[in-house]
Amino acid sequence: MKVIIATKNRGKVKEFEALFEEKGIQVESLLDFPDAPDVEETGATFAENAKIKAETIAMKLNMPVIADDSGLVIDALDGRPGVFSARYAGVEKNDEKNIDKVLKEMESVENSKRTARFVCALAVAIPGKETLIVEGRCEGQITRERVGTYGFGYDPIFYVPKLNKTMAELPKEEKNKISHRAMAIQKLGENMSFLLKGTSA
Ligand code: IMP
Repeated sequence: MKVIIATKNRGKVKEFEALFEEKGIQVESLLDFPDAPDVEETGATFAENAKIKAETIAMKLNMPVIADDSGLVIDALDGRPGVFSARYAGVEKNDEKNIDKVLKEMESVENSKRTARFVCALAVAIPGKETLIVEGRCEGQITRERVGTYGFGYDPIFYVPKLNKTMAELPKEEKNKISHRAMAIQKLGENMSFLLKGTSA
């Protein structure tokens, strides 16, 4: 049995492989399907974006497809940057400018109101079936300056209270235990029967 992960990011593919391997499910990615359509993220939520991406590609390839969408949700900014996380400071993906914009907008926000979370939605689209969506979260707080050098995106300004470290101070193996993506993948594992029943070996 085979499932396609709708990403060209090898790190993400590895995380999914770890989950599926033991179930005997083979994982491929868009690196194996260069002709798969580029899907625009036009949804208002992470779940909508993941669903649009998974269903569009599943229909085109006629195979089970898993797609994700993730980002940072900050309470004091009414949920921003949200689905615009990758391009918060402009059109291009620029982590540094995105962080600068968030820190500036958060300048006058007191410590107790700096709560935020990383969210990851995963959608599993199987041709002929209703799409399954799961969501994982990682709770934290926005710092006042960058701390740490690991990771990517908003990791240097995302403090994880239960570990007393920012995401960017966590080596990959540690981040992978607590991240929003890890939580979503864990939930997917709990719903694995959906996938197993939905495909033929
Ligand atoms: P995507 O869903 O992988 O496209 O991620 C969207 C954007 O959300 C990224 O470009 C980052 O800005 C942010 N983001 C998602 N996951 C993480 C994370 O684990 N750490 C830091 N930033 C993240």
